[in-house]
Parts: sequence; C-alpha cells; structure tokens
Amino acid sequence: MRPDSPMTMVLPEQQVRERVHRLVPELWGTLADLVRHRSVAANPDPPLAVTAHTIAKLFQQAGLSTAKVDTITHGDKTSAPLVLADEVAHPGVTTVLLYGHYDVQPADLTQWTTKPFEPIEKMDEHHDMRLYGRGAADDKSGVVMHLGAIKALRGDRGQLPLNIKLVLEGEEESGTSVLERYLTANPDDPRFQADLVIIADSGNVERGAPTLTETLRGIIAADVVVETLAAKVDSGMYGGPVPDAFMALVQILATLQDRKTGDVAIAGLTQYDHTWPTVSEATYRRDAGVLPATSLIGSGTIAKLLYGKPSINVVGLSGLPLVSGAQNLLCAKAKAKISMRLAPDQDPDAAYAALEAHIMAAAPWGLKPVVKRTASGSGFIAATGEHSKEIERALLEAYHASTVAKAGQGGSIPLVNAFQVANPDADIVLWGCEEPVAHAHGADESVSQSELEHMTLAEALLLQSVMSPIPIQAG
Ligand SMILES: [Zn+2]
Repeated sequence: MRPDSPMTMVLPEQQVRERVHRLVPELWGTLADLVRHRSVAANPDPPLAVTAHTIAKLFQQAGLSTAKVDTITHGDKTSAPLVLADEVAHPGVTTVLLYGHYDVQPADLTQWTTKPFEPIEKMDEHHDMRLYGRGAADDKSGVVMHLGAIKALRGDRGQLPLNIKLVLEGEEESGTSVLERYLTANPDDPRFQADLVIIADSGNVERGAPTLTETLRGIIAADVVVETLAAKVDSGMYGGPVPDAFMALVQILATLQDRKTGDVAIAGLTQYDHTWPTVSEATYRRDAGVLPATSLIGSGTIAKLLYGKPSINVVGLSGLPLVSGAQNLLCAKAKAKISMRLAPDQDPDAAYAALEAHIMAAAPWGLKPVVKRTASGSGFIAATGEHSKEIERALLEAYHASTVAKAGQGGSIPLVNAFQVANPDADIVLWGCEEPVAHAHGADESVSQSELEHMTLAEALLLQSVMSPIPIQAG
C-alpha cells in the first residue's frame, strides 16, 4: 500500500481512543489557558482579537496552516474577530465545517463561589475532574474539541483526506451576530459551504449519555419604554391624577403570561410537536435549582415546554432607584427588556410583530409605549443527511453506548439555522460538552474532563468515518 494512500489514514478505533486519551492533559491545559482570557461578548477591553489570535495559533500548530483571524462585514456592521481556516486537501473529498465560539457570557461575581476567569479543578462525586470558569463549557470546550480531534487524527501524518473549514466566532453571546446576518443574505459564500457541519456548542442530556441535539428554539428580545412625565415629581404634591410610568409598565408586563396557567399569553405564536426524550420533574428541578415551594407552570410536558413552546421573561428593568435610595417620587420613564424563546419553527419576525401588537393593546390609560427589537434569531430543526449513520456510530463508539438520545435544546444558536440554509444538503451535527451540570451561562460554570475526552473522541471518529479516498494519480 502506498504510504499516502487513504486507507493508511484510517486508524483503528482503539488507536484513536488512545491518542485522544494521551492528548487530554494538553487539551485540559489549553482549555484552562483560554478560560483565563476574559473574552466577554461585546467587550472591547481586553479586545477579543487577543483571544482570536491565540486560538488561530493553536490551530496553526495543529497543522491547519490556513488558520487566521478575519472579520466579516455586512451593511455597516463588522463582526467581532473570527478564526477561520480553509484547508483544501483535494477538491473531491468531503468538506467538513467545524463551528464553535470563543466569546463568553459576562460573569456576575456575586453569584460565583470560584473566580470566573481563574480556572480551578475539582473532582466531582463520580471521580471525574471538572474545570471551573466562565466559558470552560460554553463554548471554549467546543473550540478545544475541534483542536483535539484534528490533533488526534493528524498526529505527525500530515494532511488528512478531508477539506476542513474552521469557523470560530466571537459574538455568539452578544445577541446579534454579523456573521449570521451576512450568511443569511449570502448563503452561497464558499467559505461557509460544506458537506458536514459540526457545531460543538451543545451537550448531552446528562453526563455520559451521548446525545444529538435535533431542535433549537429561536429567540427575540425587545425593549419597552413607557414615558408619562417630563421628570420625576413628588408623589405628595402630584401623585394621584397622573400615571406613574413604572406602574403602567408593570401592568403591561403582567399580561405577558396567563395568570392561571403561566403559559405565554401572546396571541399568534406557534408551538412545535416533536418526540423528545422525557425530562423528569426531579431532574429539571435539580438542574435549574427550583426551590421546593415553587410549583412549575405552563401546559404540556416539561420537554415540550422547554424545547417546543415559547417562553417569555423580563430580563432587565430601569427607571427606578434601588430600594436603598428610594424617595417618594413618581417615575417619569421606565424601561424593560423582554426576552422570548420561540418554537423551533416560529418565524422571529412574526413573533416580534405579535409581541409588539400585544404590548400596544395591553398598555393602560391610552398610553403609547415605544417597543424596539434588540435581538432576533431563528430556531433549528435538524434534517437527516447522508452522514447520519456515521454521526450516530461515532457517538456510540466513543461512549461504548447502545443508544443515542435525540434531544432538543431550549437555548438558541441562530447561526445554526443560517448554516442549514447555506448548506441545505449537509448534515448538521449539534453536540458538545455542555451537559446540564456544566451550568452554561450560570454561576460556577464548569466542564467535565470525561465529557471533553469522549466528545473529542466522537468528533475524531466522525471525521475519520467521512474521510473519502483521494483520487490517486497514475504512476
Ligand atoms: Zn454557546
């Protein structure tokens, strides 16, 4: 057999497993280094470009010589730095696009028991090591999975018979993605075309239970402003005849959910029917930290409420002083940020129109609130492509498991939908290390070392299974 023949590129599963296992200490150290980067979304200081350059270098060292930092411009907006690579082994072989994001959510220090940007390790009750820190799971683990899978397969063997595109973005958590809007408007851009798209920004239904994410909810967010007075005035001198802006606003907000059932009370929203694995009330309560005296709300199973139905919350409020600084003054202007998760197939524009109409109709005393959309993204429903068998097999082998869970995710990754529109025939794999205990977006975020190892192995096995023979020239 020729030394560069594609058959020699396929390693026995046990050998890939050993290679990944030997890489774990290095990947774990790389992940800890990346957690030290305060790459908070939309944070100009320190600049995200520092993290992007660090990551580009890691992939260059792993053999992706085309890895570089770049930006995308759409309209008058330029994206946060992206790490892109485009390794063409041969035009005829499978093209894989690896996606992740290196930006992270802000960390509310009052809620953390560890320091979010000073990673530390702790052994859990399963004798599994966990790394604590903001972004350890969401989504620097995804970046490291891609790195590990490439390193494990390449070793010192040079180029693989695979075309590899890398897309690591720095604005997934910022609510608006220039790349998403660009890709939606330019679905034919060859930089984002692939046969297989691997999104490492999700997780197993529980640690050790291999899972593919089949649906994602969409998202919209809007600010609502109510203004009733030129300035704050004394409640003794003027209170009574004039509506207080805050009191008017809370009347509107109170109508967003049904008072009895807790369901979203906005007319015109859709829900999506699908068979997701059951989410038990006990598990949900434990993972979310629901207090014992709190009853759950909403109609339908927990899985349906989490993955298939819309939900609505007020996530920010301004206009009133803190209680400690309160005086007897009427509120002149009050503002709330409303965040909605949408059924996977709901059109975000239609959902926003329904929300706006609801708010205008709910405003009391003839007031005209001002509503402004601040975020918008489509959900996702996975299509089955030609590599679906290899995808499941890679997960089963990595975990030595007999079944793969097909789950939904309540969160949103609007770019996934854009990837699907740009690659209608591709398989889109959504997986990763963000199992429930990881507390992505929450306090004390962490990642499991065994999940990082198994998911890196699954990805390496998948990449290997879609490698296609390079046509060998005669002679
Ligand atoms: Zn994420």
